[in-house]
Amino acid sequence: MSRPARAVIDLAALARNYGLARRQHGGRTLAILKADAYGHGALPCARHLAPEADGFGVAFGDEALALRDSGIASPILVLEGFFSESELRQFQQQGLWSVVHHEEQLRMLEHARLPAKSLNVWLKADSGMRRAGFGLDCIRHAHARLSACAAVNRIVLMTHFARADEPQVDVTREQIRAFDAAIQHLAGERSLCNSAGILAWPEARRDWGRCGIALYGASPLPQPGTALSPVMRLESEVFAVRDIAPGDCVGYGGSFTADRPMRIGLVAMGYADGYPRAAGNGTAVAIAGARSTIVGRVSMDMLAVDLTDLPGCGVSSPVELWGENIDINAVATRAQTIAYELLCNVKRVRKVYT
Ligand code: PLP
Repeated sequence: MSRPARAVIDLAALARNYGLARRQHGGRTLAILKADAYGHGALPCARHLAPEADGFGVAFGDEALALRDSGIASPILVLEGFFSESELRQFQQQGLWSVVHHEEQLRMLEHARLPAKSLNVWLKADSGMRRAGFGLDCIRHAHARLSACAAVNRIVLMTHFARADEPQVDVTREQIRAFDAAIQHLAGERSLCNSAGILAWPEARRDWGRCGIALYGASPLPQPGTALSPVMRLESEVFAVRDIAPGDCVGYGGSFTADRPMRIGLVAMGYADGYPRAAGNGTAVAIAGARSTIVGRVSMDMLAVDLTDLPGCGVSSPVELWGENIDINAVATRAQTIAYELLCNVKRVRKVYT
């Protein structure tokens, strides 16, 4: 028996979430598999979704090439695009779609000697995020230059939302309005929505959605209205039990002091596995389905949980750190981060696919 820490990935839930997002968007939707599918394993996720998915999105070229090398033939959009002319040639040879979002990329494309009409590009406009993308004042010019590139086949016009996960804030409405106005009458399909856009901004739905976090069952919205299914269950087991007396302090820094006789379980899961050290004391866990809490600080390889009121639990009891019973967003809030970061940080634990 090896260390029991593992991430159990429910591929049927992944497919359900994809279908739900696609239906909600009412059009073609890319399944975003960057960062190893937000920690879920890009290849198994791609293989499972390939029959249904309209295409995939990854952050950079190597992620896309790894999928191609493993036999994934679906459309793949590279969200950061290419970094050099040689990478651009690789994209063309492998039939990868590229986002073009800055002047350097546009120049490389203009100088590239590639077969005519051999590359599909997504031209990214900055409609308010002030990060990547051409400004709305120069998006028409960028579109004209791209259209004049012999190698360019199809152009999709895209933008990305800064605050779509805040349904009460008007920023998204203004991004939609400004984007639509700037690209009026330009030829090409449109893509605006990330997960939050798909779930909360029906007026932003266009030809293509780009769905990341919702695929994995973590809602980006403060009040999730859509029944997403968690895809990853991060779990382990109690491997040792000990009794402590009132006044005993648990773990590094002694941040937890027992105020009564307690029974403590040690769980094989630590921050080196990706469980956030910042969660610690008081964060919920599920032990054999019953709720309890972490006591003391999370260590590198283990953490302690309260078994005092769970007389049926002991060595070998299963512990869920997040999944069906423990909402990953609640853990993220306690750790002052977001579910995206927790999922991407999962490492060292075995992944088991069901
Ligand atoms: N589109 C772009 C351009 C992105 O960078 C991302 C992820 O950051 C997504 C879509 C997916 O976002 P989400 O995971 O919020 O759905």
